[in-house]
Amino acid sequence: MEFLTEEQRLIQETVRRISREKIAPHVDEAYEKGKASREILKALAENGLLIISLPREFGGIEANATTRALVIEELAKVDGSTSMYVFTSQALPAFLLAYGTHEQKERFFGFLSSGDKICPFCLTEPNHGSDARSIKTTATLDGDHYKLNGTKSFISSGTLASLYLVFARTKEGISSFIVERDTPGFTRGAPEKKFGFRSSEMCQLFFEDATVPKENLLGHEGAGWSQLQDCGAALRAWGAGAQALGIAQGAMEYALKYAKERVQFGVPIIKHQGLQFMLADMAIQIEAARSLVYRTTRMLDAGYKVIPIMTSAAKCFASDVAMKVTTDAVQVLGGYGIMEDYAVHRMMRDAKATQIFDGTNQIQRRIIGRKLMEG
Ligand SMILES: Cc1cc2nc3c(=O)[nH]c(=O)nc-3n(C[C@H](O)[C@H](O)[C@H](O)COP(=O)(O)OP(=O)(O)OC[C@H]3O[C@@H](n4cnc5c(N)ncnc54)[C@H](O)[C@@H]3O)c2cc1C
Repeated sequence: MEFLTEEQRLIQETVRRISREKIAPHVDEAYEKGKASREILKALAENGLLIISLPREFGGIEANATTRALVIEELAKVDGSTSMYVFTSQALPAFLLAYGTHEQKERFFGFLSSGDKICPFCLTEPNHGSDARSIKTTATLDGDHYKLNGTKSFISSGTLASLYLVFARTKEGISSFIVERDTPGFTRGAPEKKFGFRSSEMCQLFFEDATVPKENLLGHEGAGWSQLQDCGAALRAWGAGAQALGIAQGAMEYALKYAKERVQFGVPIIKHQGLQFMLADMAIQIEAARSLVYRTTRMLDAGYKVIPIMTSAAKCFASDVAMKVTTDAVQVLGGYGIMEDYAVHRMMRDAKATQIFDGTNQIQRRIIGRKLMEG
């Protein structure tokens, strides 16, 4: 990509090497067990990849939207679940940078600076997914503390985390809080069994009069919904969009290599035009998704206000491309495509989930449709 800075190129190459050398060897075992790999988490921590968004004085690289997308895309090429630890762990720092006080930044960035902490984004509830504005978890001010009550569900990396960015309903509307792992009244459920992002260890979170200091409120009471429309919407480009792009690219590279090696009718199957066209279509769609994702991140980095049509389109298009490309990648491998020994089946499962989380693709189309209607 011609617009990357020297530093971004170096970061991209470094993450590519780490993915190949330190992450890829452990992906199959983690997938098989449906559990996070200690080796992968160690590699992410040792290389500072969980804290890329932190200011430099706290050990980060002050990654902007484009750099976050580059890192997440590179990791997702090799493993969606690994990219999920990094994706979810950039949301809390992004909110803290945008809405935190000096004291909150010193305290929480200081805590995260060890580099090995994971900090998920906690919005969804058992009865409120797409209709996130109706969440029922409450936060009631009681002296110096808020008492949180309710349940969060589908929380990626929830079992592994140390700090949680939690959205709850206060007197003034939805508000955002940073909740520490050892908060009294806060517990985590068992890891969910799922067919996509198997090793990212998703769980439910339970708040029963969980006592959160009032200093952990981000911004003011009732600011949470507008924070989600702004900082939260940006995640769709540099997070979910980049992740879907990486999954698609990884699947295409896998299928391409296979198509050059597999011989049928006396020639490598890539020489059959029908298959060549499938691969060409994959490349076209991936390049289009890449243009959309990185055009959006560059607009964010240039200081444009979040443009919902762009952030929603980046997430929606890239994840639809990931679904199509990974399904076609399975087709390129023929019968071997459905065998668990070949990574494309895992990529296809992960791609399906990218069409669902961070706002389903129906919800992204709804956002875009409404903007078109209003405009
Ligand atoms: C792998 C994975 C990771 C996730 N990680 C997190 C996380 O870390 N943190 C977090 O907070 N959440 C997370 N989620 C939750 C995710 O954001 C929700 O699953 C998603 O928002 C959809 O909510 P739901 O599952 O309740 O589906 P529902 O909202 O019940 O929707 C069901 C179906 O109805 C459709 N639908 C609903 N309303 C409309 C409408 N108005 N118009 C058209 N169609 C509509 C939806 O598109 C969907 O197809 C994750 C989910 C997955 C699968």
